[in-house]
Amino acid sequence: MFCPGCGNADQIPESFCRQCGIFLPDLTKPIKGPVPPEQHLTANLVLGSMTIAVSFSLAVLLSVFLGFRPDTNPLIYVTAGLLIAIGCWHVQTVWRTILLKKHLKTRFGHEELVLPGSFQTGKLLNVAELSNAVPASVTEDTTSELSRSAIRSSQSQH
Ligand SMILES: [Zn+2]
Repeated sequence: MFCPGCGNADQIPESFCRQCGIFLPDLTKPIKGPVPPEQHLTANLVLGSMTIAVSFSLAVLLSVFLGFRPDTNPLIYVTAGLLIAIGCWHVQTVWRTILLKKHLKTRFGHEELVLPGSFQTGKLLNVAELSNAVPASVTEDTTSELSRSAIRSSQSQH
C-alpha cells in the first residue's frame, strides 16, 4: 500500500510508514462494532461465579487450617467472615445477572441485541400538525350515527 501522508510505496498495513512515520491502519479489516450487552452479562456471570468459588473455598481452608484453635488470631475469623460476605454478595449479583439475561431474552426474543444496519440519527420527528385534528369522540359518534342511518335507510327501502 501507499502511505497517505507522503505517498511512499511498499508499506505494510498496521505499521508505521518507513519514510514519514505515521501509523498506517489496515483499511481492509472490518471495524469492530459495539459489544452487545449480552456479552457483558455473560462476562459478569463467569467472573461472579469464579469469585464465589474462590472466596468460599478460601474461607473454608482458612477455618480448617488456622481456625478453632486455642491460639487462633481473631483476625483469621474476621478474614473468613469477609470472604463469606464477598461470596454472598456475588451470589446475589450472579442471581440478578441471570434474571437480567432472562429479561433481555424475553424482551428481545433473541440474543443479538444490535440489529444489523441499525443506526441513530440526531433528528427528531416533525411536530404534529393539530389544526385539522378531530377528537376521537366526534369520529366515534359520527360512525355510530352513520351506521344507524344506514340501517334506517336499508329498512325504509323494504
Ligand atoms: Zn509516509
